[in-house]
Amino acid sequence: MATASQNTGKLKANFVPRVNQLDSIQLDNEITNLLRQQIQTILQVLPPGILSHLQPEVNFLLNSALWNFSIRTCYATFGQQMLSIAYERDQLPARKLALHYVLTTVLPYAKENCQYRLTGWSRLQKLVQFVENALVLFNLVNFFKFLRSGTRPSLVDCVLRINYRSLDGAKRRNIGYSYMTRELVWAGFMELLGFTIPFVNYHALKRKLRNMLRLETTHRQAERVELNVDTKCAYCNERVILPHHMGCQHVFCYLCLKGNQLADAGFQCNVCDFRSDTFRKVVVL
Ligand SMILES: [Zn+2]
Ligand SMILES: [Zn+2]
Repeated sequence: MATASQNTGKLKANFVPRVNQLDSIQLDNEITNLLRQQIQTILQVLPPGILSHLQPEVNFLLNSALWNFSIRTCYATFGQQMLSIAYERDQLPARKLALHYVLTTVLPYAKENCQYRLTGWSRLQKLVQFVENALVLFNLVNFFKFLRSGTRPSLVDCVLRINYRSLDGAKRRNIGYSYMTRELVWAGFMELLGFTIPFVNYHALKRKLRNMLRLETTHRQAERVELNVDTKCAYCNERVILPHHMGCQHVFCYLCLKGNQLADAGFQCNVCDFRSDTFRKVVVL
C-alpha cells in the first residue's frame, strides 16, 4: 500500500503534461529545419553541384551532431530542454541509447540514401514506400495511445519504452494572459477608429486649420476668371479637366471643385480663400 502511494507520488512529481511533450517534438522539428536552412544558405555561396549530391550526408551529420549534443550528453533533445523535460535516465542504458541513435538518425539517413541514390531499384523503392506508409499508420495509432495514456508521444519512445520526466517538479505551464489582453485592447481600439474615422470631415477640419494658421485673410471680390493653355487647377495643380470656378479668378477641375463643395459646405478657394456656393462652368469667350 505504502509502495503504491509512493509510486503515485513519484508519478505525479514526474508528470509531464501532454501539451509539453507534443510541443517538444514540434520544437525539435523546428530546430532541425532552422539549422538545415542555415546550412542551405551557407552552401549557396559554393558553386552549384559541389555539395548538392552530398545532401543526405550533410543532413546525417547535422542530425548526428544534434543527437550527440542533446540526447547523448543531457538525455533530452533541445526541444525537451527548452520545456524542462528529459528522458528517464535509468530507462536509457548504453545499448538503448545506441538503438535510439540508430532509429532517429541512421534510419532516416538510410531512407534518404535509398530515395536519392538507388532510384533504379524499384523493388527497394516500393519497400521503402510500404515501410513509410506503415510507419504513418503506427504513428497514428501511437498518437491515440498517447492521448489516452499521456506517455511516449513518438513511435521511437514507444518502441524503446522510455518515458519523459519533468525537471522542474511537474509545474503547470503558466499561460500569460497579458499578450491576449493587449491584443484585445488593440483590436477594440482599431474597431473604434474604424467606426469613428468616417464621421470626421477632414475637408472642413483642413479648412479651419488653414484659416487658423493664415492670419490675414483677404476675401476678395469676384474677379475675372483667367484661363489659358498654362492654367492649372488651383486644387490639384494639374492641367484643368472640365474647367469650373466658384467666383474667384481661380480655375478648378470639375471633380476637384464639385467634390470639395460636396464634402465641405464652407469650402474656400485654397489660393485666395474666396468663399461661395457658386459652381459655374468657365466659358471661354
Ligand atoms: Zn483639379
Ligand atoms: Zn481663388
